[in-house]
Amino acid sequence: MLKPVQRYELLRRLGQTYPYARSELRFRDPFELLVAVVLSAQATDVSVNKATARLFPVANTPGALLQLGEEGLKPYIGTIGLYNSKARNLIALCRKLIDEHGGRVPSDREVLRKLPGVGWKTASVVANVAFGAPTIAVDTHIFRIASRTGLAPGKTPDAVSRLLERITPPEFARDAHHWLILHGRYVCKARKPECWRCVIAGLCRFQPQTPAPTDGDRRPAARISRRSAARKRPSPARNKSAPVPR
Ligand code: SF4
Repeated sequence: MLKPVQRYELLRRLGQTYPYARSELRFRDPFELLVAVVLSAQATDVSVNKATARLFPVANTPGALLQLGEEGLKPYIGTIGLYNSKARNLIALCRKLIDEHGGRVPSDREVLRKLPGVGWKTASVVANVAFGAPTIAVDTHIFRIASRTGLAPGKTPDAVSRLLERITPPEFARDAHHWLILHGRYVCKARKPECWRCVIAGLCRFQPQTPAPTDGDRRPAARISRRSAARKRPSPARNKSAPVPR
């Protein structure tokens, strides 16, 4: 595991690299965020944004979703994996918000965790993004980086989340989650980390680090990258929150 001074430097560099990092899910209030995060389990942010762009103009409050009902909700989220169970959970969640919380989303992670379909990770994301709590949810990207770099190795995402929350300097606690996700999504990729252009390569324990592509590799890689970027990423002009990774 990295030493405290190394951990500090690693997070400082990521903070400099992704200064405007924020959630790529689209939402306007804590309830929309909660719905989006519940839907995002085992689904991409892009697919969730497409579904909520159709759903939220029709129903974006606990009462409106309840009125829509489980069967009425499914057509809006049918393109998302596990949509049957997510629809069931969301309706139960709305009922509980109305019955026990006055229709409002609670800010406390422990209270959030008691809502149907809301586990440690979802509660941590909502507490952090909607209410500014220093919680660090661990997704597949953060789990991978925490282990590869030596920042916070652990056997399960929840264990890594708890460790990260304990060791992250307070000034980084609110944003570290976003920095790590973006770094994992665009640089420290699962199959082939792009170590040659990684700002934390000098601190990272991963070996062997990936060398820069040769000229022969570079042209096709650049073509694929541009094509996939055009396909996968929303235009920054249309979505000001979209990161522009370098
Ligand atoms: S050096 Fe490589 S393995 Fe380490 S964080 Fe950077 S991209 Fe990931």
